Amino acid sequence: MRLVSIRKFVAVAAVVVAIGPTVAAEAQAYRAKPKLVIELVIDQFRGDYLDRYRDDFKTANGFNLFLNKGAYFTDCYYQYANTMTAPGHSTIGTGAYTNGHGISLNEWWDFKRSTTHPVSSVEDERYDIVGDHGPTDIGASPRNELASTLGDEVVLASAGKSRLFGISLKDRAAILTSGHASKGAFWLDHASGHFVSSTYWGPKLPDWAAAFNASGRTEKAIAEAKSRPGHFYDDAGATPASVSYLLDFAEALVAGEKMGQHETTDVLTISISSTDILGHQVGPDSPRQRAMIDAIDVDLDAFFTWLDAHIDGGMSNVWVSLTGDHGIGPTIDGAAASGMPAAVFNLKKITTALDDALNEKFSPGKGVKYILQSEVPYITLDPRAFAASNVSEADAENAVADLLPATFASTAPPDPTGPVKLPTRALVRHTYTKVQMAAGDLPNTEEGKRVLQSYSPNGEWYVLFSPGMYMQGSTSGTNHYTPYSYDRHVPLAFYGSAFVPGTYHGLVEPVDIASTFASLLRVNRPSAAVGRVLVEAVKPGQ
Ligand SMILES: [Zn+2]
Repeated sequence: MRLVSIRKFVAVAAVVVAIGPTVAAEAQAYRAKPKLVIELVIDQFRGDYLDRYRDDFKTANGFNLFLNKGAYFTDCYYQYANTMTAPGHSTIGTGAYTNGHGISLNEWWDFKRSTTHPVSSVEDERYDIVGDHGPTDIGASPRNELASTLGDEVVLASAGKSRLFGISLKDRAAILTSGHASKGAFWLDHASGHFVSSTYWGPKLPDWAAAFNASGRTEKAIAEAKSRPGHFYDDAGATPASVSYLLDFAEALVAGEKMGQHETTDVLTISISSTDILGHQVGPDSPRQRAMIDAIDVDLDAFFTWLDAHIDGGMSNVWVSLTGDHGIGPTIDGAAASGMPAAVFNLKKITTALDDALNEKFSPGKGVKYILQSEVPYITLDPRAFAASNVSEADAENAVADLLPATFASTAPPDPTGPVKLPTRALVRHTYTKVQMAAGDLPNTEEGKRVLQSYSPNGEWYVLFSPGMYMQGSTSGTNHYTPYSYDRHVPLAFYGSAFVPGTYHGLVEPVDIASTFASLLRVNRPSAAVGRVLVEAVKPGQ
C-alpha cells in the first residue's frame, strides 16, 4: 500500500512539475477563503417553490446556480412557533432562535420605551433616519438583537478588516440579518422608494448610495410597476420591478464599497421582500406569485453574472446561501377549494370578548382594557391593568389561556358557506403562557420544543397560542404566524467552492447556515448559535 502511495505521489509530483504554474494557481484558489460571503434571503419563500417551478427556470446562474451547481436541501424547517419576518431574519443571521436572539415579532409592546404604540423590532429613538425623512420617522438599529451574527463574527475575527453590509426593502430584514458590526444597512423609504439608513451607521448616506437615489433608477422602477406616486413600497414592492431595483442597489454597493476586494472575507446580506408583499395579497398558488419567482430567477442570473465579472476571481471566490424567513399557508378560499378545513377569526372581536370575560372575573362592571393591540400568535396583556386589579402575571396569563379557546369559538363567524366548505374543528389547539415559557415548563412534544424556542423576555405579558390549521385573521389574502409545517418550511441551499453539489434530503434548519459558514471560515459561531455544521455537503479537505 505504502509503495503504491509513494509511486502515486511521484507520478503526481511529475505532473506538477510539468504544468507547475497552473496547478499551483488552482491549489492556491482552492485553499483561499472566499472573498465574499452572501446570505441571500427571499421573504415568504416556501420550501416547495423551487421544485414546483423548477421547469420555469431557464437561466444558468439564477436558481440553477443552487439547484444544479450547489448543495440543495429539500427539508429545511424552522423549529420555533413564531414564523414571522423579523424573527426569521434574526434566526438566519444569528443561527439562534428567538430564545437566543430575543426577536419574537415584527413589533411588540415595551412600556419602558413607549406606552402609546408597540415598538418595532429595529426602531431606535436614539438615532435618526438618514436620507428621505418623514416627520414621524425615527432611526433604527439592531439594539434588540441579543446575539451576534455570522457577519459580526467575521468582522471580529478580522479585527475589523472585513466589511459587513445588509440590504432589503424592509428595515428589519436589512438590519437583523447583517447584525451589529456592519458598516451599513439600507432599506426603503416606503413612500419615495429611495434607499435610507440610520445615524447608527453614520451621519449621511455613502456617496454611492446617494448617487443611486439620484440616478433616476427609482423613477424607472416606478414607471415599470405603474406605481402611484408616494406608494413605492406597496405598489412597486409587490411587482418584479422592485427585485431588479434591489439587486441593482446591491451592485452599486459591491462596486461602491469594493466588496470582495479586501484581504479578508466580506459579508453581504440581501433580503428580497417582494415575494412577501405580493404573497400576502394573492397567496402561494397565484400565477402572479409564480411570475414573481420566475422574475427573481432572471434577476438573480443577471446579478451573479455581474458579480462574476466584478469580484477578484469571479464567482469561484464567492460563497452564497439561499433560504427564506418563513413559509406561508394557502388563502382561505384556496384551502377550501382543495377540500381542506379553513376558518377566519376576528382579532378585534376576540380582544373585546376577552376584556369582557376578564372584567367579569377580576373587576365586575369596570370596563378595564386588559388586552393590548396584539400581533398573533402572541396575545399581549397590559400589566398595568392587571396590577390595578391585584392580579399577578401568572394568574393573568393563566386566565387568558383558559378563556382563549371559548373566546375564539364564540366570536367565530357562522359555519362558512359558499367556497369555504368546512370549519376548522378546533380554533385554538394549545395555549402557552409567558411564565410557563420562561421557566421552560412545556410539554415534552415537538410543539413544546418549538414554543420554548419562541420565548423572549420582550413584549410585556403574553400568551402564545397555536391555532387550527389554515386560519386567517382576514377573509382576503393569507398570512404566516403558526407553528405548522407550511409556515416553517423554507429552501436551504449553498453555492461555492466549499460545497459538494447535489440534492440532500433529511431535516435541516435555517440555524445551520451560520454554523456551517462559521466552521468553513474558521471563525467563532455567533454567540447564541444552535445550528449543526452541514458536513454532508462540505467538500473533503475544507
Ligand atoms: Zn409576511
